[in-house]
Parts: sequence; structure tokens; C-alpha cells
Amino acid sequence: MELASQSSGCIDLHIHSTASDGSLSPSEIIDAAKTNGLRAIAITDHDTVEGSAEALRLSQVSDLEVLSGIEISADFPSGTMHMLGYMIRLDDPFLNQTLEKVQSSRAGRNLKIIEKLQDAGIDIGFDEVAEVSGGGQIGRPHIAQVLVKKGAVQSIDSAFVKFLKKDGPAYVTRFRLSPADAIQMILQAGGVPVLGHPFTLHTKNEADLERVLVDLKGVGLRGMEIYYPDHRPDRTAMYERLARRHGLLMTGGTDFHGAAKPWVHLGIGAGDMRIPYRLVEELKKCRALGTNLT
Ligand code: AMP
Ligand code: FE
Ligand code: FE
Ligand code: ZN
Repeated sequence: MELASQSSGCIDLHIHSTASDGSLSPSEIIDAAKTNGLRAIAITDHDTVEGSAEALRLSQVSDLEVLSGIEISADFPSGTMHMLGYMIRLDDPFLNQTLEKVQSSRAGRNLKIIEKLQDAGIDIGFDEVAEVSGGGQIGRPHIAQVLVKKGAVQSIDSAFVKFLKKDGPAYVTRFRLSPADAIQMILQAGGVPVLGHPFTLHTKNEADLERVLVDLKGVGLRGMEIYYPDHRPDRTAMYERLARRHGLLMTGGTDFHGAAKPWVHLGIGAGDMRIPYRLVEELKKCRALGTNLT
């Protein structure tokens, strides 16, 4: 990819706020994005649009461009599938009803995870987790932060490895949309569905990922997140190749979470990412072509 030569004209389309498991509020994210010279951002919280809505409101009096966004978990057997949705109508009734269903499933799951940790002999209560979450939606990274604070584990990563990862001893499943339903929800809210960080699908090889992409494109997928801190250059090249072959948009973002992922910095990831504004123009073109075309 031809990278933008300086940070002005760069973007970050994958950011978490305190509305989900990020540690900065939408307002703090906007300030940090301006300080870092970013031109456009999208807050893509897990299963909630509250942070995105707040950022859009704030952007009306700012020269930073803010796109609406969401990151929704979809059911995928072998790994983790996250569907990003850009330029969705945030007040879409079906989107909001579906998110409420997902959020109530999350709430029940958090209590079960805490019970499992208590059964494993760890002194942890819901109130301390709620406190760490700062009032937004609670997720496993908040529970991980409490485990670190209590000295039960050394790091957030080891909290996942030891307890919280899929099939770990304190893992609890929850309601997830099918990939097709996640894509349809984004499309009918007027948005552009983009497969987030494809490496977490844990597909076996390029052909295996290609089969998944073809299926997803058949139900309306429009793009893939190519530029991402954990994507090494050979992976990035493979994702670019697949996106070109299948006419998928290319997007990029850091998955900034603040304190929950302190090694990832806004706009630049581990330090060397520069995602050009051109990708936002492509996204806008895609939306202008209409997204209700499945
Ligand atoms: P949940 O939304 O409750 O299912 O938790 C998923 C979140 O946990 C995602 O935001 C991931 O970024 C985060 N996560 C998963 N594995 C790890 C890890 N090893 N270290 C830090 N965060 C993680
Ligand atoms: Fe997260
Ligand atoms: Fe994700
Ligand atoms: Zn994310």
C-alpha cells in the first residue's frame, strides 16, 4: 500500500471508547485524534452505538471528521468474527432493538463469568468490575483489569490466557448474531459492513479464508479490515490480494482501547501505522452506491 507520508490525512477507523471496553471517553478520543493530527476517525464500540453517537455530536463543532461505527460479534465456530459497520444510521430502530438483545445477553454472561472466577477461589465482585468499566457496557477486558489489580494474574493478556479466553475455565458463551444477520443489520441501517481483523477467524490458509469471504460477500459483505496492528506484512499483502480479487473495500484501524491494550496507540498502532484518508473516500463511494442491494 502507498502509505500517507505524514499523519495529517491519516485516519483510524477502529476505536473503542468508555461506552464499551476502551478507557477514553468519546470527547477524550476526539481531543487525542486532533492532537495526533488525524483527519477522520470512527468509534466502533462492541455492540453499542452510544460512544459513536456522542462522538458524532461533538464532531459538529470540530474539524475532525467522524464516521458512525459499530463492531458487532458474529457467531463463527473456529475463531472470533467481528463485523464492523460504518456510516450506519445510529437511530435505526431494528439496529437498536438488536443491540439491546445482545446487551442483555452480555449482562447475564458477566455475572456467570464472575461466579466461575469465584468458584476458582478468586475474590472478585460485580461492583469492582462495574467500577473499572466507568459506567459503560461491561466486557471481559474489564474483568481482566480487576484480575490484574488484585494480583490474580500478571497482565491482561494472562487473564485471557488463564481464565477468560474462548473455552478457558471462566469462559461463558453469549448470544451472537449469525454473520449473515450481522451484515443484514448493518445494511438495513444504511451502513457498510466490513469484516474486522480477519486473522482472528483462525482460518487455516488463504483458500480457507477465501471461501469464508465468498460466502460473506454473497450475503452482503462490502469490505475487509486490511490495515491492523496485528497484521504482519505478509498477511496484509494476502488480505489486499483477496480484497482486490473479490471487489471488497479495504479499511484500517488500530483497535485502540487505551488502558485495556496499552501497547496500541491511537492512529499509529504499535507506532508505525499510517492509514490514508483515501480509504474513507472509498467507503463513502460504496455507501453512495447504495447498501440495500443484497
Ligand atoms: P467481550 O466483548 O467481553 O467478549 O471481550 C472481548 C474483548 O476482549 C475484545 O475487545 C478483545 O479486544 C479483548 N481481548 C480478547 N483477548 C484479549 C487479550 N489476550 N488481551 C487483551 N484483550 C483481549
Ligand atoms: Fe474490545
Ligand atoms: Fe474486534
Ligand atoms: Zn475492536
